[in-house]
Amino acid sequence: MNGPKVLNFSAGPSKVPEEVLQIAQKELINYNEQGVSVMELSHRSKTFEKIIETAEKDLREILSIPDNYKVLFMQGGGTGIFAAVPLNFCPRLKECTADYVVTGSWSAKSAKEAEKYCKVNRVLPKADKYTTIPEKSEWKLDPNASYLYYCANETINGIEFHEVPEPLPNVPLVCDMSSNFLTRPVDVSKFGCIFAGAQKNVGIAGLVIAIVREDLLGKEADVCPSILSFKTMSDNKSLYNTPNCFAVYITGLCLKWIKANGGLKAMEERCITKSSLIYEIIDNSNGFFYSPIDKKHRSRVNLPFRIGGEKGDENLEKKFIEESTKQRMLQLKGHRSVGGLRASLFNAISVNETEILAQFMRKFQESNQSK
Ligand SMILES: *Cc1c(COP(=O)(O)O)cnc(C)c1O
Repeated sequence: MNGPKVLNFSAGPSKVPEEVLQIAQKELINYNEQGVSVMELSHRSKTFEKIIETAEKDLREILSIPDNYKVLFMQGGGTGIFAAVPLNFCPRLKECTADYVVTGSWSAKSAKEAEKYCKVNRVLPKADKYTTIPEKSEWKLDPNASYLYYCANETINGIEFHEVPEPLPNVPLVCDMSSNFLTRPVDVSKFGCIFAGAQKNVGIAGLVIAIVREDLLGKEADVCPSILSFKTMSDNKSLYNTPNCFAVYITGLCLKWIKANGGLKAMEERCITKSSLIYEIIDNSNGFFYSPIDKKHRSRVNLPFRIGGEKGDENLEKKFIEESTKQRMLQLKGHRSVGGLRASLFNAISVNETEILAQFMRKFQESNQSK
């Protein structure tokens, strides 16, 4: 492509670091002197074994994953794991209850999927809009729940947990980290299960990573499909059937990139710097830009906002999209279910790219606010 670089603020699939794409391009036709690409290698070959083992090793190092956790490379996306969670952790299905903290579209979708398999207790009072996380005193937890489920970052609504919620004793904590995985350090030992699709912060679509505490394996319902069984996947080192080899390879490269760029502490600092740049403009815009989210729970990675107050001025928002697209800033439209605008600032987005967006926003306000 000629001309200035494109800035890709997509909510997923999203930007992959340029360095990673360059390595992949270089190795595409002839990987490691094998004469074939990763896409053409047997998943049982020594070469692929090394790719998947190295990816696991690097992930364990980056996240300091304790030894009593299994790392699984699976398919079916985050959405597949929505079904896998009740199927694996509710051995008697409808006789079991699972607690769901519904804070936005993704946790709502997951709770709905779980309802096919188990009883779902919605922990929070029903809200007509997702703009905050209610205080712990309002949570209605079930002491006999098979697990407590939440979504660490609501990609569509822009709500992020900045602290890990405390489950009741002996209730394993299950977390969908799809959109803020590897954007900050996490104490894995607090969780029974963490999962994340790769296409937001650590690769491309078609791969979902699950991290599961060993003692929770083997409790699955009889009807749990083998490819959704954490135990089957674990017993077969994620090679029960053909994995998405190429996606595993790209994730491996992204993990090396995260390591080379300072690991999770550095990713977190980048996230704070980037999101602050945008939130500062919103908060200092005299209401020209508007963020609907409770400040304490604002996401550092997905920033939904409106122009012209809570309801949004759709003409100005349309103009914002047109002009930003002309300047090669892509995918700033909000999710169709909430409207408005959204900037997704995943790991691969640099501070410099965010500054360009910030400057565009400032100029847009100057030329468009009513005098
Ligand atoms: C993107 C996303 C998903 C869904 O991932 P798929 O791979 O499309 O199934 C689930 N949860 C969250 C929080 C997401 O951001």
